[in-house]
Amino acid sequence: MNDPTISDSPAPPQNAAGRVVLKPRKAQPFLARHPWVFASAVDRIEGDPQDGDVVDLVSDKGRFVARGVLNRNSSLRVRLYTWDANQPLDLSFWRRRLEDAFAMRRQLGLFSPQTGCRLAYSEADGLSGLVVDWFAGHAVAQVNSLAMAARWPQLAPLLAELLQPLSLTFRIDKTIASDEGLETQHGLAHGAWPQEPVTVEEHGLRYQVDLLGGQKTGFYLDQRDNRLAVSRYVRDRRVLDLFCYTGGFSLAAARLGGAREVLGVDSSKKAIAAAQAHAALNDATQVRFEAREAFETLDALQTQGQTFDAIILDPPKFTRTRRGVGAALQAYHRLNRRAVELLAPGGILVTCSCSGGVLREDFLDMLSGVAQKTARDVQVLEQRGAAPDHPVSAACLETEYLKCFICRVA
Ligand code: SAH
Repeated sequence: MNDPTISDSPAPPQNAAGRVVLKPRKAQPFLARHPWVFASAVDRIEGDPQDGDVVDLVSDKGRFVARGVLNRNSSLRVRLYTWDANQPLDLSFWRRRLEDAFAMRRQLGLFSPQTGCRLAYSEADGLSGLVVDWFAGHAVAQVNSLAMAARWPQLAPLLAELLQPLSLTFRIDKTIASDEGLETQHGLAHGAWPQEPVTVEEHGLRYQVDLLGGQKTGFYLDQRDNRLAVSRYVRDRRVLDLFCYTGGFSLAAARLGGAREVLGVDSSKKAIAAAQAHAALNDATQVRFEAREAFETLDALQTQGQTFDAIILDPPKFTRTRRGVGAALQAYHRLNRRAVELLAPGGILVTCSCSGGVLREDFLDMLSGVAQKTARDVQVLEQRGAAPDHPVSAACLETEYLKCFICRVA
């Protein structure tokens, strides 16, 4: 057995160490290039592959389907990386995958010394279980699978070579670690951590990123274009930004959009302190931040009889699984309903969901329920997703997790 920690993992073999044989009639999703083979589809494992080793996925008739990496610790038993039988999963393969991902962000104009962008996004870039974010010269890798953790000793120098970052940080976060049979850890793989906070520019505004202590890899890059989009609707308006984290939407509303007044609320004191620093850094005087729970805030604002011309709702994931979708939709309903009740006629509701299991249609249905209960017309003006450095893989629609609807509430 490999020790599934980053530092102690032996070099993985380059060619398949065994075969994973599918049950009859289970091959279709993988022929369609879906990269996740769950235990329920697997009939047996042949050979003696260790967890973290390369395996070939074959149909019940023994036909090659795809090549991936085995992990018996996870119900996601095999992560698939190539459908070409002649393609070994070796270092030159990972190099090409990474180069391709980085080239796309360069082409988008997102990859420069000042910017923050997602350079590699897991399944959406054919790199299941690896996320690489870029913050003004500093790279942060979320190693989200045993497959990638086992290869980290090779991937780290490769990333250092390709990106020439000032620092390369890796993180294995708690939920992923328990899913994959890894240990939570983080560390510095290359270069030196900055003495000062790292400052990234987004639409001409500046944000400081905490590479280690921040949520996700430090900044919600996926909302970049939505912040700009929302800023177009808020001129001279009074805005509430609920779940504001370090103030991305608030500052865009104030500085890009010319909002009259912005209140940003988040339950994390640390995030609020960062948001206040961001307001100062960007000379946003019409913005106020408060560390408070969102539902309590909505109650209090309602009791005070306050109204807003625009409300932004960007809550954390309400469910991690398809099973939890029903309860999540109820929570979205409660939240959105309360927000709609605080909106002045003709107000703007920006409502987001980053729960992958909640589909766009489900979310629209939820909004329809809110319209009914509040007896207000909800006009969806824009249906948006994550910025293009977080692409959606047509083969793996789970990569479409972020929904952002900009609505007018009559
Ligand atoms: N809009 C932000 C990202 C929000 S992420 C941006 O653009 O950067 C979700 C945020 O919700 C996190 O900052 C988290 O601290 C906050 N949060 C989670 N539960 C909360 C609650 N019950 N009340 C208020 N904030 C909460």
